[in-house]
Amino acid sequence: MLSTMQDGQLSLAHLLRHGTTVHANSEVVTWTGEGARREDYGELGQHAARLANALRSLGVTGDQRVGTFMWNNAEHMAAYAAVPAMGAVLHTLNIRLFPEQLVFVANHAEDQVILVDGTLVPLLAKQLPQLNTVRHVIVANGDASALEAPAGVEVHSYDELLAAQPDTFDWPVVDERAAAAMCYTSGTTGDPKGVAYSHRSIWLHSMQVCMSDSMRLAQHDKALVIVPMFHAMSWGLPYAALMVGASLIMPDRFLQPAPIARILEAEKPTFAGAVPTIWQGLLQHLEANPQDISHLREVVVGGSAAPPSMMHAFEEKYGVPILHAWGMTETSPLGSVARPPGGVTGEQAWEYRYTQGRFPASVRARLITDDGTEAPWDGESVGELEVSGPWIAGAYYGDNVDPDKFHDGWLRTGDVGKVTPDGFLTLTDRAKDVIKSGGEWISSVDLENAVMAHPAVAEAAVIGVPDEKWDERPLVAVVVREGQSVTAAELREFLADKVAKWQLPENWTFIDEVPKTSVGKFDKKRLRAFHSEGKLDISKL
Ligand code: AMP
Repeated sequence: MLSTMQDGQLSLAHLLRHGTTVHANSEVVTWTGEGARREDYGELGQHAARLANALRSLGVTGDQRVGTFMWNNAEHMAAYAAVPAMGAVLHTLNIRLFPEQLVFVANHAEDQVILVDGTLVPLLAKQLPQLNTVRHVIVANGDASALEAPAGVEVHSYDELLAAQPDTFDWPVVDERAAAAMCYTSGTTGDPKGVAYSHRSIWLHSMQVCMSDSMRLAQHDKALVIVPMFHAMSWGLPYAALMVGASLIMPDRFLQPAPIARILEAEKPTFAGAVPTIWQGLLQHLEANPQDISHLREVVVGGSAAPPSMMHAFEEKYGVPILHAWGMTETSPLGSVARPPGGVTGEQAWEYRYTQGRFPASVRARLITDDGTEAPWDGESVGELEVSGPWIAGAYYGDNVDPDKFHDGWLRTGDVGKVTPDGFLTLTDRAKDVIKSGGEWISSVDLENAVMAHPAVAEAAVIGVPDEKWDERPLVAVVVREGQSVTAAELREFLADKVAKWQLPENWTFIDEVPKTSVGKFDKKRLRAFHSEGKLDISKL
């Protein structure tokens, strides 16, 4: 029997219309270094319409791709709003990709137009001649004449182009299953892979972001969006904000701890999202420059494991709860969020909060063991996590068959972990990062968290290194906090009551900084390369 219900399209044009009228007074605030420039959502609607008209005038039709090479700011938000709503596809280019990867992704997606921030023009300019499908480059927040156009490419000033356009646009009804936006994975091996989100997947994901047991984003929030708009769609925060009318605070290019602290002081956001490295940096800054940040009702941390020591520091010293979440570019990205079950308090609540979180109803999950069988959700059995659901990728763009990643309607995440009977995921490793010592697994994440709990440690990354007797043993790369000192022997002693004796690492190295990927995660591939090239000075205990 068919239902009697209507079948409205979950189209982003409607989200744009709704957010910019019903929530016309909410704001997009962009940090300028000294202060902020502000645009309310009503103005954002007009801004988006001018941008859509401008893109049409340049010949953007149908589902052509419009690339952005931008910081988090009002112009990037206008592109988020306008491009999918006009039926085209927004392609957020990662400004930190290696040049050859940038060329690969722009050509692979066949970007027709690129919007670029003035400060990023020099980065784009070098690769522009190799971007085969790009016909127009629009320079925002800077001087368009600074960009010399290669043959066949026209360069425009964002302000001049938009000033000539009407501030209304006849937003079309787009099929909810059509692509709205795309993002390439920041994987450190092989070519980046494209994920094309649909209007429907973004819509449903936005609702999830706002649910109380999820990130709880609501109309009264002011959300500081530090996670880049080119990294997994800023974790869905811009569209979720438009859905419920939360204001957005965009840091633009001011991502160091000191300017972030200034933004916090000036704008008093209630909510923020970023990878752990940003928060670790802020924590160090706050230690030397104390400041009240209790206006933050919650901070969401994901992308890499949030170290428990950092979660405690934020909560106990600054009254700011950290909400740990897990996800991937392929999962839009919200996969799981670590809110303890009702009635659980004290130490037990912390145990839940350390996990990567609980799966919501729309994300199905299972653990697959080495022999291909499904591991039970008993909180102990370990397997590779597979997920499926309406905002999980079922294929990569232009590459429908990748049995390594997609099979039988499931996405293989490459993450290894365990799940409790009540659905809380704990990741122990990336499949390629697990350390096998004498036939037993050692979790690099557990070791990292344990070492980072030492007060003199700023960062610690653990990799497996070859060992004659045990096949592999952990090597701990430690970054010592400024002005502090600690020895490998002291750290090993510190771990003695925290990890099993056979897991205690004997290989230690002290480095200035853990190498990071283009989205700020520990780059263990590079750390392994440093090790195999003999570049690390190792003390063996
Ligand atoms: P990306 O697509 O760049 O966002 O990377 C996704 C990967 O980041 C996941 O597959 C995990 O390996 C890792 N990741 C994301 N969130 C977490 C988390 N909360 N804890 C540990 N690893 C995470």
